[in-house]
Amino acid sequence: MHLAFNYQALPMRVSFGAGTVAKLGEELDLLGLRRALVLCSPEQDDLGSYIADALGALTVGLLAEARMHVPRDVAERARDLASRLGADCCVAVGGGSAIGLGKAIALEHGLPLVAVPTTYAGSEMTPVWGLTENGRKRTGRDARVLPRSVLYDAELTVSLPTDISAVSGINALAHAVEGLYAPDRSPIVSLMAEEGSRALASALPRVVADGHDLTARSEAQYGAWLCGAVLGATTMSLHHKLCHTLGGALDLPHAQTHTVVLPYALAYNASAAPEALAALSRAFGGTDDPAQTLWDLAGSLGAPRGLRDLGMSETDIPRVVALAVESPYANPREVTAEGIEALLFAAWRGEPPTDTQVGRTARMPGPLR
Ligand code: NAD
Repeated sequence: MHLAFNYQALPMRVSFGAGTVAKLGEELDLLGLRRALVLCSPEQDDLGSYIADALGALTVGLLAEARMHVPRDVAERARDLASRLGADCCVAVGGGSAIGLGKAIALEHGLPLVAVPTTYAGSEMTPVWGLTENGRKRTGRDARVLPRSVLYDAELTVSLPTDISAVSGINALAHAVEGLYAPDRSPIVSLMAEEGSRALASALPRVVADGHDLTARSEAQYGAWLCGAVLGATTMSLHHKLCHTLGGALDLPHAQTHTVVLPYALAYNASAAPEALAALSRAFGGTDDPAQTLWDLAGSLGAPRGLRDLGMSETDIPRVVALAVESPYANPREVTAEGIEALLFAAWRGEPPTDTQVGRTARMPGPLR
């Protein structure tokens, strides 16, 4: 066990439970907020309107324009609207796109953000923002963008299609996997990561079997909360770096890319992260090969397993390798161009992760600094 650590608790409130969104007005009152701008994606316009109506006099407007990766023009429109309406806070309802838009406003105007997440992506638990301009996404950490309060209401996730639920849940699992071998991990974060992984691995098959199973939806959301908290508390490594690169350079879909890459990234790091492997083995019911278990889980959920299924061409691999090794970052196993190339070829084909060179050529650790 890693027994030298720093842990900084993030200052936010979390309310959890089916039907919790009914208490959103009380929550705004508690925080002294009176003029909310409600944000959502165009597809969640109905939910955004419902929330805006339910808030009554506490709402000053609704903007249903959130898009993946927070395009700068959308962020600027949202910031202008918040100023014009004299909003004193934003309520973001939806997935990482809606919450990301609220963060973009908070970053510029310091407006407090209240999040009502309806996917499992985890942005609501982090002080990390992102903004995209001219095809490049910039990200950063800033305490101002951390939501003041998060309301998790599993009833709002029932409408999330089961195929999106599956990949969104594995996106959450990726935060836990990398949190378990993060350079700044700590015992409390590792407990959250292990329990979050257990909850998601248990709940996702039931969510996919019946998207209206509120018990399964609650357990999946509980796991997503824990995994999001891990993301907010630690530094991510190879897996997140690769997914960020694949999303930025090739515009591959966010959660699906995480789903495909995760088993291979874990297989790559496995030999250098024994504590993480042991925790994941416990979380996944005693498996001796958590990378293979993740690959099996994705298959059993009907999720895509190869990058080629997401529209990536094999000829893109060298460019992604070059971008992925361009600057150093913390990772338990040394990141080499040939290692990443083998990983990406295996992930592109979608073959079992431990049948490939990803696992077999594992070298002993040499963390990049
Ligand atoms: P998203 O918010 O775009 O949602 C994915 C899809 O699900 C969308 O089509 C959306 O309309 C739909 N959807 C959401 N909730 C629904 C519901 N209840 N019912 C029906 N459909 C619903 O994507 P996401 O995967 O939640 O988030 C991805 C984005 O968030 C990316 O831009 C990613 O970079 C960012 N992100 C940021 C952080 C961070 O810490 N800053 C963490 C995770 C993700």
